[in-house]
Amino acid sequence: MRIDILTLFPEMCESVLCESIIGRARENGLVEISCTNIRDYTKDKHKRVDDAPYGGGMGMLMQTQPIFDCYTDICERAGRKVHLIYMSPQGKVLNQEKVKELSKYENIAILCGHYEGVDERLIEEIVDEEISIGDYVLTGGELPALILADSISRMLPGVLSNDEAFTKESHYEGLLEYPQYTRPYEWHGRQVPDILLSGHHANIERFRREESLKRTYMRRPDILSKAQLSKADIEYLRKLKEKIKSEKEDKSE
Ligand code: SAM
Repeated sequence: MRIDILTLFPEMCESVLCESIIGRARENGLVEISCTNIRDYTKDKHKRVDDAPYGGGMGMLMQTQPIFDCYTDICERAGRKVHLIYMSPQGKVLNQEKVKELSKYENIAILCGHYEGVDERLIEEIVDEEISIGDYVLTGGELPALILADSISRMLPGVLSNDEAFTKESHYEGLLEYPQYTRPYEWHGRQVPDILLSGHHANIERFRREESLKRTYMRRPDILSKAQLSKADIEYLRKLKEKIKSEKEDKSE
C-alpha cells in the first residue's frame, strides 16, 4: 500500500515515520509512505500558500492552488484518482472499523490542514472524506495524519511480527483488550493472576475473554452493544451486572 501525505511540514512527519515498527515496515517495502511539501507547488513568487479569509475573521486559510496542484501531481504519478482524506476536526471521528476499511486501499492520500484550515472550495472539489481524531482542535493536521498512517500501516500484512496480533487488541472485535502482565511475578505486593501461570490454554482464553468483557462493560459500555457476543459471554455479563448491583445495594445499606 502507498500513503501520500500532503503537508507544509514534511520533516515533522518524516521524523516520526522513520522510527520503530513503521520505519522498519517502510525499509522492508511493506508500506510506502511519502510526504510531499505543498509549498513546493505554490505559484506565488514569495512562496506563500495562505491568505486572509474573505469576510474577515481570525487567522489565515490555506489556498486552493498549491494543494490542488500537489494532489494532481500525486494522482498523475499514481496513474489514477487517489482517494483523498482531509484530516479535520469537522470530520467523522476515526475508529478501528474505518482503519480496517482504509487498509484495503492500494493508495490513499492524506491532506494536513494548518492555520484556520483550507478554502472550502478545495474540499468540495477534491476531498473524498474528512476524518477527525477526536472532538478537540490541534494546530495542524500532521499529528492526525500520522495517527491515521500508523493505524493503517500496522494492519498491513507483515508489518507486525504476528499478522494476527491486532485482531486480539482493543476495538478490533468491539471489545477492549484484557489486562496483561510480564515478569516479575510479584511487584509492590501485587501478584500476577495464577491462572496465567497454569499452562491451561482453554482456561486462560476464557479468563482473558471475561476480563475483556468486564473491562469493556465498566469502561466503554457504549461499544459493548456492537460487539459479537457468544452465549457464554452474555451469561457472564448477566452475572457480572447482578454482582455489581448487589454490591451497590450492600454498600447503600
Ligand atoms: N478552523 C478549523 C475549525 O474550526 O474547524 C480548525 C482548523 S485547525 C486549527 C488546523 C488544522 O488542524 C485543520 O485544518 C486540520 O487539518 C487539523 N486538525 C485540527 N484538529 C483536528 C482533529 N481533531 N482531527 C483532525 N485534524 C485536525
